[in-house]
Amino acid sequence: MNAPELRRPIVGNRVELNIFTTLACNLKCSYCSIAVGDVLGSQGKVAYSLDTLDAFIATHLADKEIYVTFYGGEPTLNIPFMAALMERHPTFRFQLQTNGTLLHRLPEAVLTKLSNVLVSVDGAEHTTDHYRGRGVYRKVTANIEKIRPKLGGKLTARVTWGHPDISFDELDSLLPAFDYVYWQFTQAEGFYDAEAMPRKKEALSLLIDKFFASPALYPFIPLMGTVRNKVLPSRAREACSGLSQCRASTHILNILPDGRIFPCPDLTHRPEMQQGDLVANWLKASPLQPTPAMPCESCEALAFCRRNCMKNLYVGYVLDDAPYREQVVEPICELVKFMGAEIDRRNPHAWFANAPLAVRREITDCEIYDYVEVMP
Ligand code: SF4
Ligand code: SF4
Repeated sequence: MNAPELRRPIVGNRVELNIFTTLACNLKCSYCSIAVGDVLGSQGKVAYSLDTLDAFIATHLADKEIYVTFYGGEPTLNIPFMAALMERHPTFRFQLQTNGTLLHRLPEAVLTKLSNVLVSVDGAEHTTDHYRGRGVYRKVTANIEKIRPKLGGKLTARVTWGHPDISFDELDSLLPAFDYVYWQFTQAEGFYDAEAMPRKKEALSLLIDKFFASPALYPFIPLMGTVRNKVLPSRAREACSGLSQCRASTHILNILPDGRIFPCPDLTHRPEMQQGDLVANWLKASPLQPTPAMPCESCEALAFCRRNCMKNLYVGYVLDDAPYREQVVEPICELVKFMGAEIDRRNPHAWFANAPLAVRREITDCEIYDYVEVMP
């Protein structure tokens, strides 16, 4: 990828519009990342028209394949906007990122067109209710059962892996209620002390053991993605042009209800991160780019990790927030490296060579990779 290409507003042929349908939410999760900088609840529902969105797309994204993630706040608090956008652009791909509590309200016309519903949980019932409120997990799983027959695409658990008690058994138990499990290590301080790290590593080892125990697919996205990146390293680079797998440096636009655009949903409180404005109709390249201050170029994990989380790297090494770097960024990097080494020990190339073709296709081309950060 040459320098002029990397300076384009969107690098590559795809773009994800991460559309905040509202900044309101009906839950109060204790660690909500959107609450940082008082973003949560700071705006109501989308304030721009679909004509304004179309003018922006025509100006900046005319030749791109577009996929949309409905985001928030809780996006299902603004179903009319979702339905209207889906009706106007039936050729786009659509995903919903939701806390799951209002899923039962979605009309069938919306459900059939969703490629993926990413449901936020914190683990199984006890852990989820601990962070989100009593009864939330049961409400969510009941809703999932209700919508499943009408859903066009897949259901993915999006686990924020924070609580030190989360075990292999707890994560494993999320299947088969969900088609896939994606986890991200929590980006809050206080979860990676000397007691918590060995427990997280133990759970990781057991997950990896189960992944390699049979040629069938064990649908944990970060394990699938890491195995893909080990066996087919070019795949780790091509979708994000060699930059971050989470797309924040290349082709994801987080659009707030007021139309301002940022590369990362967790950095919308930082003015230097604004990369566009839907209403004023301008867009520039993502300001969230690798810098020499970040340690990735000399990291043993770069080939498969591909700069896991640009927000973490930016806050930890560019803003030089030492407590965040030491208590969040460095422990997560340690866990990513551990995961890579544990996968190497089990010979992913041999496993892939023996896997049925359908499993190999999932490892190589799973659609969910397009919607999540792949790395945890
Ligand atoms: S493990 Fe950390 S330092 Fe290494 S490539 Fe990933 S984000 Fe960068
Ligand atoms: S993984 Fe990417 S999108 Fe997610 S918080 Fe980090 S930088 Fe932002």
